[in-house]
Amino acid sequence: MRSKSIMQTAKNNQPRSVAIIGGGISGLATAFFISRRFPGVHVAIFEKAPRLGGTMQSEYRDDFLFEAGPNGFLSNRVETLDLVKESGAESLLLRSSDAARIRYVFTDRLWRLPDTPPAFIRTGLLSPRDKLRVLGEVFVPPKKDNEDESLRAFGYRRLGRRFTDIFLDAMSAGIYASTPDRLSVNAAFPAVVKLEKDHGGLFRGMMKKKKKQAGPGGVLMSFRGGVGAFANHLAEHLAKTLSVECHVGAPVTQLARTASGYRLTVKGAETEFEADSVILATPAFVSAELMAPMDREIADKLHAISYSPIAVVGFGYQRLAHPLDGFGLLTTTQAKQRILGVLWDSAIFPGRANAPHKSVRVLIGGQRNPEFALGDESALVDIAREGIRNTMDVDDEPSTVFVKRWERGIPNYPVGHLANAREIHARIGKYPGLYLNSNAYFGIGINDCVINSLACARKWGEDFYE
Ligand SMILES: Cc1cc2nc3c(=O)[nH]c(=O)nc-3n(C[C@H](O)[C@H](O)[C@H](O)COP(=O)(O)OP(=O)(O)OC[C@H]3O[C@@H](n4cnc5c(N)ncnc54)[C@H](O)[C@@H]3O)c2cc1C
Repeated sequence: MRSKSIMQTAKNNQPRSVAIIGGGISGLATAFFISRRFPGVHVAIFEKAPRLGGTMQSEYRDDFLFEAGPNGFLSNRVETLDLVKESGAESLLLRSSDAARIRYVFTDRLWRLPDTPPAFIRTGLLSPRDKLRVLGEVFVPPKKDNEDESLRAFGYRRLGRRFTDIFLDAMSAGIYASTPDRLSVNAAFPAVVKLEKDHGGLFRGMMKKKKKQAGPGGVLMSFRGGVGAFANHLAEHLAKTLSVECHVGAPVTQLARTASGYRLTVKGAETEFEADSVILATPAFVSAELMAPMDREIADKLHAISYSPIAVVGFGYQRLAHPLDGFGLLTTTQAKQRILGVLWDSAIFPGRANAPHKSVRVLIGGQRNPEFALGDESALVDIAREGIRNTMDVDDEPSTVFVKRWERGIPNYPVGHLANAREIHARIGKYPGLYLNSNAYFGIGINDCVINSLACARKWGEDFYE
């Protein structure tokens, strides 16, 4: 097989080429940060799928816009917003509607989640005793050791059982498609652990932070045309403005070390590709396969990062009496429903359905019921309709149906995850010019991926240029 070099060696022989394997937001953002900061560097992305963006995919069906994966990111971190602006996509930005601040939780019935202290005092979701237990958080001494613990153990310790089983349980389903007992609080909610560490408790920490913070918390943001429109924009910007070489339909099947860097074998390609540095922006199980011939131990640790299946079922309605007055609802484990929640899409962002049409998306599976996400399309539609009936009392026939199944959709962050991820990263550091950066390690949100991509690009720059 012939070998094509994508290397542009500098006079001082410093490495000048990067191959990024995986074109989800982690790969795209890393390509952006490196190529913008170091314009002379040759950056090439290799993506298995026919399009870039990974799980960031949006699809018009009839006159509805459905998201196959994420529907947005919070504006409380600047990095994603900066990426959007600096890549010229500001005009695509879309702020969620204010009505979408209202959120619901389904336990034995639908409850509006309290979003202010007076609403918390008034809510019937918790008994007076449970509320006192939550308020008593200020008297709970901070944890002395640095041992990892589950979100459930953390919640029971600081906020009480009932609050944990409702609020933290629903939140785990909504963000991680998981449950508090299966999530490491350190890996999934590091900022919360930091509050306890730095200030002795959550309320104490929040009060101090509030005094310092002027503006409100984050607002959910997306894009005209959905998150997929931003992924497409970023991919085009990389190719046209920053001269990044984008290979789609190009699964990397092998990665090998050479005297000066790494060689990639791409399925179906006539040539192999060489680069002096490689960033694996692939899911952990793919990175494991690519690393196995080079380092069995890293491969085993990568394989230890498991993923949960998750399915998204979208319904478009020509007519729907339900007001969809909010963001949507999440269910708790104890509610014993077959759905994780329902996002009231057309109420969250304008343009998801043309009024008076309305649309929703139902999330199924995750760690709570992985088997449900693996059913065929008609089984998923049945589960989704049953879930909407049970939680929203809606039995209307949708005019448009959208189904997306992710067999290994979301990485699991159980107790011990961070130690494993840190070991993997420490060990990969022994391979000059080789990096790992995806949602498998230090955060799964779009914001986390962008922040970690910035850190990865900085580390790359420090290693080779600074
Ligand atoms: C249903 C769902 C809903 C979500 N909702 C939200 C949300 O509302 N907000 C939020 O912030 N986050 C959300 N997330 C999480 C967020 O979307 C992801 O964590 C993030 O997009 C992951 O980006 P990534 O680039 O790390 O990984 P991915 O998007 O998984 O990208 C990895 C890429 O690697 C490619 N690849 C795999 N194997 C190879 C190979 N051999 N060679 C080349 N390429 C390969 C894949 O095709 C893929 O494109 C959601 C996720 C899902 C699944």
